[in-house]
Amino acid sequence: MSKTISINAGSSSLKWQLYQMPEEKVIAKGITERIGLKDSIFTIKYGDGQKFEEILDIEDHAIAVKKLLDQLIELEILGSYDEITGVGHRVVQGGKYFDKSVVIDDDVVEKIEELAAFAPLHNPAHLMGINAFRELLPGVLNVAVFDTAFFANMPKVAKYYSIPKEYREKYDVRKYGAHGTSHRYVAQRAAEVLGKPIEDLKIITCHIGNGASISAVDGGKAVDTSMGFTPLAGVTMGTRSGDIDPAVLQFLMHKLDIDIDEMLNILNKKSGLLGLSDGFSSDMRDIKARRGEEEIDTILNIFYDRIRKYVGSYVTVMNGVDAIVFTAGIGENDQYTREYVINGMSWFGCEIDPEKNLQNGVEQVISTPESKVKVLLIPTDEELMIARDVESLRS
Ligand code: ADP
Repeated sequence: MSKTISINAGSSSLKWQLYQMPEEKVIAKGITERIGLKDSIFTIKYGDGQKFEEILDIEDHAIAVKKLLDQLIELEILGSYDEITGVGHRVVQGGKYFDKSVVIDDDVVEKIEELAAFAPLHNPAHLMGINAFRELLPGVLNVAVFDTAFFANMPKVAKYYSIPKEYREKYDVRKYGAHGTSHRYVAQRAAEVLGKPIEDLKIITCHIGNGASISAVDGGKAVDTSMGFTPLAGVTMGTRSGDIDPAVLQFLMHKLDIDIDEMLNILNKKSGLLGLSDGFSSDMRDIKARRGEEEIDTILNIFYDRIRKYVGSYVTVMNGVDAIVFTAGIGENDQYTREYVINGMSWFGCEIDPEKNLQNGVEQVISTPESKVKVLLIPTDEELMIARDVESLRS
C-alpha cells in the first residue's frame, strides 16, 4: 500500500495530511502545535470523524515527526513506517533555483537554506521538517513543493521591478509571488470543471484568505501575480497593507521615530483589515458581522476594490479572460467579495448568478449561463497538489 504525506512545517507547528495514493484518499490529517514550547498540542483526525488529541511536551520537529509516525501505528492507521512511500514538503521560497517541485537531496537542502535570506520565518522551519523526515525515513522519497515555483517563469515584464538592474542581478531582487500551489491547483481544477484544456484558457485566480493574492494564468502558465518580492505586496489582506507608496514609509518612520524593521512589522502585522478597523479584527467574519456601519462599509469597500483592480488589470495583461476563480477562506465563503468584484465587470458581459453565489464553499460555476466570462468557486487543496507532485516524481 502506498501512502504519501503532505507536510507544512512552521517554526512551532507541523501540519500534515496522509493520503492513500494514487486514489488520493485522505486517510488522516492533523497538526502539532506549540513545538518547542511547554504543552504542545498533538491532534490526529481520522476514520469517520474520530479524533485523537494529546497534550505533551514536544521539544523539536524530529520528536514531533517520530511521535506522529508512532501514533499513526498505535491507532492502526499505519502498519509500519514502511507504508509511507513519499513525503511532500511545502516550501515557501524557491527563489531563482526552483521552477517546479523537486526530489530533495543534499543540494536541494543547501539551496533552501540559502534562500532563507528571502523567507527568514519560513524556510528554516520547513528545513526542520525535511531533516526530521529524512532522518526517520531514510530512503523514502522526499519532495519539495515551492510556493514560488508557479511564478518562477513569469515573463520578465511581470518579474522585474523598475529599479536599477544591478540590484536584480546582484541580489536577485524581483517578483517571486506566493500561494503558487493554490493558484496552480485551482486553475487546473477550473479547466477540468469547464471541460476545456487549460492550454486554451485565460484564467484569473483569486486566492483570498488571511493572506491574499491574485494571479493571471494564461494557457496554464502564470504570467503575473499580485504578491511581489515578499507576500506584503498586492491587495489589502488580514494584517498586511498590500501595495503602498514607499514614500509613506519614510514619512511615517520620521514621524514615529521608528526604524525600517518596525515599519515593516506595522505593514505586515498591524495593517490591512486589522489596521483599517483600528485594531478591531483581521478576520473577515468579524468585519462583515458589522456590515452597515459606515466606517466598516468603507473598509470592506477598500478590501473589495483592491481585488477588483487587480482582476481588471489582468484582463488587460492577458488581452481577455475566460474564467475568474475564487478560492481560500474569504474567496470560498464570502459572497459579498465575489459579488463586488464581478459587478465591476458587467460592462463586458460577466454576470454572477445571485442564487449560486450564496452557496458558499461548494465547487461550482457561479456565473449565469449567458455570462461571457465564467466565474467559479473552487475550494483550494494545496495538500493534494503536494501529494500529486510527490507521485509525479516517483520514477
Ligand atoms: P490563511 O490560510 O491565509 O490563514 P484562510 O484561507 O483560512 O487563511 O482564510 C481565512 C479568512 O477567511 C479569514 O479572514 C476568515 O474570516 C475568512 N472566512 C472564513 N469563513 C468565512 C465566511 N463564512 N465569511 C467570510 N469570511 C470567512
